[in-house]
Amino acid sequence: MLHLPIYLDHNATTPCDPRVVDTMLPYFSQSFGNAASRHHSFGWQAQAAVDQGREQVAQLINAEPTEIIFTSGATEAVNLAIKGVYETYNSKGAHIITCSIEHKAVLDTCKHLEKKGADVTYLPVNEKGLVNVEELEAAIKSTTILIAIMYANNEIGTIQPVAEIGRIAKEKNVLFFSDATQAVGKIPVDVIRDNSDLLALSAHKFYAPKGVGALYVRRKAPRVKLTAQMDGGGHERGLRSGTLNVPGIAGLGKACQLCLDETQKDAAHTSRLRDKLEKALLKIEGTSVNGDAKSRLPQITNLSFAGVDSEGLLMALGKEIALSSGSACTSGSLEPSYVLKALGLSNEAAHGSLRFGLGRSTTEEEIDYTIEKVSAAVQDLRGLNPFWKEVSAKLKR
Ligand SMILES: *Cc1c(COP(=O)(O)O)cnc(C)c1O
Repeated sequence: MLHLPIYLDHNATTPCDPRVVDTMLPYFSQSFGNAASRHHSFGWQAQAAVDQGREQVAQLINAEPTEIIFTSGATEAVNLAIKGVYETYNSKGAHIITCSIEHKAVLDTCKHLEKKGADVTYLPVNEKGLVNVEELEAAIKSTTILIAIMYANNEIGTIQPVAEIGRIAKEKNVLFFSDATQAVGKIPVDVIRDNSDLLALSAHKFYAPKGVGALYVRRKAPRVKLTAQMDGGGHERGLRSGTLNVPGIAGLGKACQLCLDETQKDAAHTSRLRDKLEKALLKIEGTSVNGDAKSRLPQITNLSFAGVDSEGLLMALGKEIALSSGSACTSGSLEPSYVLKALGLSNEAAHGSLRFGLGRSTTEEEIDYTIEKVSAAVQDLRGLNPFWKEVSAKLKR
């Protein structure tokens, strides 16, 4: 049975897995203690939940539990990583390398630091959204202290050559931070293999609640030092003061454990349905894929429909299919997606794009229904577009 509306916006957020909710429930009203309360069993129970969550997060990314700092999500983890490195190491140099299609959490943090004297290089990407590794290597200067390149993009799903970047960073003695918010839980992430020094993740992108995330901070070879961005009780080894979100951490840990067991299964399921959806929609004249078809997250496709405005498409579909034209954080603005613009798309093509984000619970019926509805909506909107005949003639040339 098909239930409407259909949720195809899993890159904006995911529903909590019921097993994650079950794991969290005891920590609201029963074992509600403060993990920093050292002198009674309420505190000990909370601490035990935090310890377990920390181990589960560490295991998923091949880190040590002591290398995991809990935060309120990826935005906070990104801020702590980039500002924390800058404030610690800027006596050595003030140069940071990042790229043009990073999430706003990274771009706006870099802009903030530029006002404080940082020298930031924003590397371009190619038409698939990939950073050029040679260009990155050439951008490294004696003053470079940090490379911040995302693991996978939230709008198009392109996966960067993270292991290669990590190898170069290590060779050049520069710290490497990756915003892995879209990658963790969807593809295997391994901080040892990738030579990651810092890595951000967020629970709500892989079936755990909003408002909790983590920053991985390497402790050996090299031992990364950070300047805390939050002052207070000295929680999380002084790097992130504030009472820990015990239910959230328990849920994040459980989600990590589930991903360890189920990522392969999830990826096979979503990529099969994604490929079916993509293949069917590409049959519509004037439709193209944005991003790298090879190096891409398994559950996403971003498509441009010529002669159609995505706002109109979203309005036509919105009651039945929950989709997005770009990232949740920047949609609502009339500017075309800066990610799609960075790939070289025209304003019109960027305005005619939709992101389909599938998830663990997406069904074949939902995909069949989506194919039917999107195809019909595109035809309808083109029928209303006085310029469609011209656009179509151009496409045929
Ligand atoms: C969602 C997202 C963020 C922000 O994460 P929050 O936990 O919501 O703050 C950062 N980077 C990427 C790539 C994301 O997809």
